[in-house]
Amino acid sequence: MARLVMKFGGTSVANIERIRNVALHVKREVDAGNEVAVVVSAMSGKTNELVAWCRDISPLHDAREYDAVVASGEIVTAGLLAIALQNLGIGARSWQGWQIPILTSDAHGSARIESIHGDEIVKRFAERQEVAVVAGFQGLHKATGRVTTLGRGGSDTSAVALAAAIKADRCDIYTDVDGVYTTDPRVVPKARRMDKIAFEEMLEMASLGAKVLQVRSVEVAMVHGVKTYVRSSFDPPDNPSPGTLICHEEDIVEQQVVTGIAFTRDEAQVTLRRVADKPGVAAAIFVPLAEANINVDMIIQVVSDDTTTTDLTFTVPAADYEKARQVLEKAQPMIGYTNLQGATDLVKVSAIGIGMRSHAGVAARAFKALAEKGINIRAITTSEIKFSVLIDAAYTELAVRTLHMLYGLDKV
Ligand code: ASP
Ligand code: MG
Repeated sequence: MARLVMKFGGTSVANIERIRNVALHVKREVDAGNEVAVVVSAMSGKTNELVAWCRDISPLHDAREYDAVVASGEIVTAGLLAIALQNLGIGARSWQGWQIPILTSDAHGSARIESIHGDEIVKRFAERQEVAVVAGFQGLHKATGRVTTLGRGGSDTSAVALAAAIKADRCDIYTDVDGVYTTDPRVVPKARRMDKIAFEEMLEMASLGAKVLQVRSVEVAMVHGVKTYVRSSFDPPDNPSPGTLICHEEDIVEQQVVTGIAFTRDEAQVTLRRVADKPGVAAAIFVPLAEANINVDMIIQVVSDDTTTTDLTFTVPAADYEKARQVLEKAQPMIGYTNLQGATDLVKVSAIGIGMRSHAGVAARAFKALAEKGINIRAITTSEIKFSVLIDAAYTELAVRTLHMLYGLDKV
């Protein structure tokens, strides 16, 4: 017997038929004698619709009421799945975040889970063999008594945090793909499903563009050592494939140098020419951007040709490009650059692998391979287990395929 958390994402519960299908996946685990808590997302498209309604009724709305509205999507799915399970003769009860309770911070719209009181759920496992169906994405801020939500994609985090709280043996995240791939299979048909990936690698993959899990959920899984599987709810309920296990690196036997290639589209680049080369200038640039809530990513500083000034290049999300421009134009007297150049329509391609820690020249091979394909690199960043290059979006597919092949990730 094992105790497990099964999480089903929006596409897995998109309609009544799929909710019935999810019930069959749960039944399989219950029949095997396991104790099961299920975490559900809203039916696909539902949260988008609810968010749009909030914006529609008032572009500037109370964040507490936004949470009251968007938390409703998961509540519906939880109730429906409990009914579907009962129809199969399985004892089941739905739980909204406040009923457990899942306590969070008061950062409405992007709250952090602080604690989960799973005692009642665990008690019912033993006393009634009851499946708990928990609404993901939501919690309660205790001091104010208000409902909160965790940020988009947050039910992954609900699931992993619940697994940690009730000391589950594992957390199975069911989605519409059967695991984590070496890169997006829509871009590289030869992408392979991985059997295992280390927490650190998954964290980088998710941060650098792989959409399969919310970044925060991987952090929580890593901190608490929750064995987490990514699996498909579209596999036959009586014979699903095991999916990809996210685990500690020690548990991975055959470690590759590069395990995956991720990419993020819609990047923009800003270059400030001839910025004075003196203390305080970086602060003059990046503090106003931070105050405007603009996320700066890659930063490169090079000495200008006149050697007394410096050129500064950095990236921001394309959606924030115009805003960044305005902020920097306003701050021009403080910063003192001569001109501002920019480009949108860029993509950041990254290679990730724990093996980079112990192998030299991994990134250099990529630069050579990309050059051979005539791909110009605009910026580079590296860290211990990954490197990223910024290139023109038109070369996305070519670059991702080139790197995927270079590091031996193609399916044979
Ligand atoms: N329903 C929420 C969203 O669409 C949470 C989730 O599905 O993880 O972001
Ligand atoms: Mg999701």
